[in-house]
Amino acid sequence: MPDQKFIKISLKKLIEDLGSSYNHSDRDSYTEECPVCEERITQMMNECAACQTPVVWYDSPLWKEIYGQPNTAARLLSIVLPEDPVATEVMKLAGRKGFDNQSQANRWKKAYAVLGEKHSRRLVRWVAEHSGGRNGNARLSWCMNLMAKTAAEAVGNAPIMAKAPKPETTSSDSMLRLS
Ligand SMILES: [Zn+2]
Repeated sequence: MPDQKFIKISLKKLIEDLGSSYNHSDRDSYTEECPVCEERITQMMNECAACQTPVVWYDSPLWKEIYGQPNTAARLLSIVLPEDPVATEVMKLAGRKGFDNQSQANRWKKAYAVLGEKHSRRLVRWVAEHSGGRNGNARLSWCMNLMAKTAAEAVGNAPIMAKAPKPETTSSDSMLRLS
């Protein structure tokens, strides 16, 4: 399971797949096969009994009753803890435990590998000094973007900054305004 630390199962999809053989009175007892080890996973499990991979059931009233909102569970399971001292500092600055997900963590790692600890720390401290009043999300994305941009410039292939798309105007419209 690349980039996925837990198994997502949708009861809704399972029911759709069952089609006419679905029986509503059996709803809570339907199970799914673990994609990792092929063990049966019931709606009372938040991890596979055999391989211990975490499990989140969507659209399952039973699972939700036991474990709460599937989206909340999925968010917590997706968190990737920081691995280097500067990322730890970023999380502190952002008031978080870790990266939202693996791709965000990878984006950090890639930039960190280029910039190194000293340079990265300087960028993060700069954000810390200038981000008073901003919330954790804004601080994190500021750090992430600054790191990525600086790293890209450092390797000499800075991406062309995308311009904000302009509202659609027909050419005759803009001609009229120009003249
Ligand atoms: Zn399993």
